Amino acid sequence: MINTLLICGGGGSEHDVSLRTADFIEEKLAAAKDIALLRVEMDNSGCLTDSQGRVYHIFYDRKIRDEKGNSWDVDYVIPAIHGYPGETGDLQSQLDMFGIPYFGSAPEPSKICFNKIKTKMWLSALGIDNTPYEFLHSLEIEELEKAHSALEAWGEVFVKASNQGSSVGCFKVSDTSELEAAIEDAFKLSPYVLIEKALKARELEVAVYAYNNEIIATRPGEIRAPSDTFYTYKEKYAEGSRAVTFIEAAELDEEQLQWIAKVSLRTFKALKLKDLSRIDFFLTETGELYLNEVNTFPGMTPNSMFPKMMENHGHNFSEYLTGLIRSAVSSSE
Ligand code: ADP
Ligand code: MG
Ligand code: MG
Repeated sequence: MINTLLICGGGGSEHDVSLRTADFIEEKLAAAKDIALLRVEMDNSGCLTDSQGRVYHIFYDRKIRDEKGNSWDVDYVIPAIHGYPGETGDLQSQLDMFGIPYFGSAPEPSKICFNKIKTKMWLSALGIDNTPYEFLHSLEIEELEKAHSALEAWGEVFVKASNQGSSVGCFKVSDTSELEAAIEDAFKLSPYVLIEKALKARELEVAVYAYNNEIIATRPGEIRAPSDTFYTYKEKYAEGSRAVTFIEAAELDEEQLQWIAKVSLRTFKALKLKDLSRIDFFLTETGELYLNEVNTFPGMTPNSMFPKMMENHGHNFSEYLTGLIRSAVSSSE
């Protein structure tokens, strides 16, 4: 029996999204007779609680213990957390220290990809086109001037907190009078802020994952946000979302498909990602392609693109995840 700890929740703004991802994973592992799953929810002080309200402590000597001192071996961990401390790599550092294998990328690639500025620096260093941007380290006057010049030059910008996902801390600004308030709001959520050129573009997403030791990049899917907004938290998850998703984006020519596939695979390999990712692109009205972001632990709610694109590519999610768990556990023994 492989004792697998599914950790969800976490201290970030995407706590609730993570619970839905965990529901999906739990359902997909339900039929695996050799995997015993213990699901615990992490609150924002790092405390782990199961569905009966029992509190647990992890991890030394690869065990989890409840308050009464009962212990349980942990063979594998699924850190199903979007944002801190899962997608940021912090939890994975702890798991590495205790020698427990887990689903997803190691600390360093997680950190690079969760920080939108670090991602851009890496992408630029690798020669991978990404959206033009400036970054601000503070609200000092010179920094704000930089933002105003960017808005003037680009006409419309996205102001983004560097360390967030699910469109939290992400604001579209075209009016100078709204710029500084957006920057202040973004700074409340992260230590750095990006000012990105707002593109008129289609949004394409690719599931990139390891299947039987091969790295697979699916065909791109597409998200279409309603015309009066962008792909906000509400359009991603709320009931009544007006966003439309396509598991396969239409009307892409062979050259565009090849470029996207090549860049997706190259990014996955060069950033040393592991097991899964969703790599997102913009295709502008004038035909330019940019990599937007790399999500090392993409959402897996019923609306989410990652599992749908994988299944559309012909890979069953349950087989994929059980395969990864079995092989990680057997190679760590
Ligand atoms: P998150 O990690 O929160 O998903 P993104 O960088 O993907 O952050 O931004 C969220 C959404 O905002 C995108 O899906 C897109 O709809 C919109 N967006 C972000 N940056 C740009 C941009 N430079 N041009 C046009 N739309 C953008
Ligand atoms: Mg993201
Ligand atoms: Mg995104």
